[in-house]
Amino acid sequence: MLTRSFNPPVRTLMGPGPSDVHPRILEALSRPTIGHLDPAFITMMDELKELLQYAFQTRNIMTMPVSAPGSAGMESCFVNLVEPGDKVIVCQNGVFGGRMKENVERSGGFAVMVEDTWGEAINIDKLEDALKDNPDTKIVAMVHAETSTGAQSDVSSLVKLARAHGCLTIVDAVTSLGGTPLKVDEWEIDAIYSGSQKCLSCTPGLSPVSFSERALEKVRNRQTKVQSWFMDLNLVMGYWGTGAKRAYHHTAPINALYALHEALVILQEEGLENAWARHQKNHLALRAGLEAMGLTFIVKEDDRLPQLNAVTIPAGVDDVAVRNRLLNEYNLEIGAGLGALAGKVWRIGLMGHASRAENILLCIGALESVLGDLGADINRGVALPAMQRALAE
Ligand SMILES: *Cc1c(COP(=O)(O)O)cnc(C)c1O
Repeated sequence: MLTRSFNPPVRTLMGPGPSDVHPRILEALSRPTIGHLDPAFITMMDELKELLQYAFQTRNIMTMPVSAPGSAGMESCFVNLVEPGDKVIVCQNGVFGGRMKENVERSGGFAVMVEDTWGEAINIDKLEDALKDNPDTKIVAMVHAETSTGAQSDVSSLVKLARAHGCLTIVDAVTSLGGTPLKVDEWEIDAIYSGSQKCLSCTPGLSPVSFSERALEKVRNRQTKVQSWFMDLNLVMGYWGTGAKRAYHHTAPINALYALHEALVILQEEGLENAWARHQKNHLALRAGLEAMGLTFIVKEDDRLPQLNAVTIPAGVDDVAVRNRLLNEYNLEIGAGLGALAGKVWRIGLMGHASRAENILLCIGALESVLGDLGADINRGVALPAMQRALAE
């Protein structure tokens, strides 16, 4: 028997990513493949870099997508900036800070962990104590939007503090880019990475990164070669750099880059501030519905991410059964808890193109009917009106 073509079901993606892909982006993917050194392609690459500079709010020349998912963008920042023996303070308040520690150690650095409770923002006083205790620190790393818990941290203040202690900073903006205010130049961030599949509404597999002149200075003055040939910025820039002379480094994922270009054109059309405002408005509507039902958020109000809503699973409710029913009966995907929060929370994403009124309506309606059906102790018949009131405001 011949295997037939794969035709995925049509789902609504309201988890921690990938999020719903905009139809214009899927269409862009199917445009004709051309050579990765074709002059037309190079023009597209230059536009893509400018669009990324807009999304990141930076003039950094070294702003481009790494040809691999967000985790590779993370790795790119660490392997380039961390030299063997470097001390790096990692602020951890969820899963992704733990991965940063791994990256520091695999790059030959020494990680000093500053740990906060999962579900809380990074505590700036703890970072200050760690910087005082470790005056030889070279780099401070932090996650802006902790997708594992739904908490956002005050990157602007944390970076300012790190700079006052003479440190470079690495910031994870995988879930924040395009969804919540982020200003790379104004906040003086040195190295930042994101992902295509969260608030940019693009397909997974690309990681936008940006490096400041201070960061590049450190890379240029390294005593040892970057341990990863593929990630070495000095080599990657031969392909992504400015000027007409582009050298082959690796074959770019041509069509995927069309898709990211389209995603960023859509973001530019909407306007960055408008996109941030839309995420906030839709978060408030989802929150109104969930809270009316009786569900509670794990993150305190001021630190909540609008694009990632972590709520406690009601007592006695079977996590997997609920998520399976949402998927099978409503084609709706919401996220499970990760790491220490596995089985305890659901993570409902309102990222990018998924942050729309009809998705909130579907999620609130489906969740209420499944939970009610399973006999969960929730308030019935009040969530949709609460959500509608919030949307009308
Ligand atoms: C999703 C995510 C990543 C990893 O991105 P991948 O594309 O899955 O490799 C890293 N950091 C944060 C905060 C994320 O949400």
